[in-house]
Amino acid sequence: MQLRNIKVPSQQVSFLEAVRIGLGEQQGLFFPDSWPKLEVETLLAQPFAKRSAAILQALIGDELPEAELSALVAEAFAFGAPLAAVTEDVACLELFHGPTLAFKDFGGRFMARALMASQQRSGVTNTTIVTATSGDTGAAVAHAFYQRPGAEVVILFPKGKISVLQEKLFTTLGKNIHTLAVDGDFDQCQALVKEVFNDRDLVKRLNINSANSINISRLFAQICYYFEAVAQVPADKRHNIVISVPSGNFGNVTAGLIAKVLGLPIKRMIAATNANDTVPRYWQSGDWQVKPTVATLSNAMDVSAPNNWPRVEDLLAQGVIQRSDLVTTMVDEEDTQLAMRQLAQLGYLSEPHAAVAYRALKRELQPDEFGIFLGTAHPAKFKEQVENILGNPIALPPALAAVAGEASLAVDMAADFVELRKVLLSLEK
Ligand SMILES: *Cc1c(COP(=O)(O)O)cnc(C)c1O
Repeated sequence: MQLRNIKVPSQQVSFLEAVRIGLGEQQGLFFPDSWPKLEVETLLAQPFAKRSAAILQALIGDELPEAELSALVAEAFAFGAPLAAVTEDVACLELFHGPTLAFKDFGGRFMARALMASQQRSGVTNTTIVTATSGDTGAAVAHAFYQRPGAEVVILFPKGKISVLQEKLFTTLGKNIHTLAVDGDFDQCQALVKEVFNDRDLVKRLNINSANSINISRLFAQICYYFEAVAQVPADKRHNIVISVPSGNFGNVTAGLIAKVLGLPIKRMIAATNANDTVPRYWQSGDWQVKPTVATLSNAMDVSAPNNWPRVEDLLAQGVIQRSDLVTTMVDEEDTQLAMRQLAQLGYLSEPHAAVAYRALKRELQPDEFGIFLGTAHPAKFKEQVENILGNPIALPPALAAVAGEASLAVDMAADFVELRKVLLSLEK
């Protein structure tokens, strides 16, 4: 398949090149400008891994042979995405049954394997993954690359701004996983990673790749679970589905919009943000105004300059989605807590990110529609906040219990590129 750099359209790359390069010239994102039409009904009848391989094959084309892609997908998606009923017309798509208990496992695990496949073909043996995390990407990427020969991983996270258990899931690994606690917010971490990519010499010397949601392979992987969601909706309700996505960097909601472009029956998508509401304000006013990031309960969405937004604009420009296909709305802290309590009363234990999406869904859902909100992380990842808000203790699943008592190996760093450069060069082989 051919992908085009959104900013520099003359830069065209294959899928495997895009996976390897990550970000294009002038920090432009890679994106397809034509889309396959899928046999959606046939696909919906298939099991998750088989269907996902077929969707990805249709997108990627023959760059990865069918048998290789099928094996890769089966390995990457080795856990389910169940749709949990909350009420008669609302359900939660639980995307937190992977090893690091957040939806980022889908993209992270597929990306790691696609990258290895790409490198094998180009004869590259060593790579350095540099990524910024607002909470859950770090763990997913760290686990996906942990102890993989030839891969060094450097993860930047905003010090003190992610939950303790989120942090423990990736800062306790060691070996080829290097973690930096940056004195700043997520947008500063993301800006540092962008600076790394501007340093051509550094990128070349260390063969640096980013595992952020700008990597097209992560986005493609995420398309697959939207099909899995619809496949679990009773057939008589499939024509009226509205899906609400808790959004930060807007990768997840972009994947949902792509699923719609591919023919999946989704009536509307809702992008729900917390107080970091650059997109909802922009969607209303047409004015892109980035304010300083504020810390909220849904910390993985504390992003004020969402990286993936240009891809949504590109889908609009391509004419494959309409403005009315996307609703954007902001949910404040009070409403987030209220939503968590409402869900608890309905017998569903939730956490702040899913609660933001649930609240937005309740605002927008019309009679006769079937609403799905995405459960992007396991409630136990936010144990303290969830216990404070709901007043009940929650148990830790084994993956979290195992790291809760381990010491963090993260190194403190100022939000300074010169310092980051030194750290990276120390990894040079
Ligand atoms: C990353 C993350 C989000 C935001 O997803 P984007 O694709 O960046 O919009 C929402 N919830 C959780 C739990 C996350 O980790």
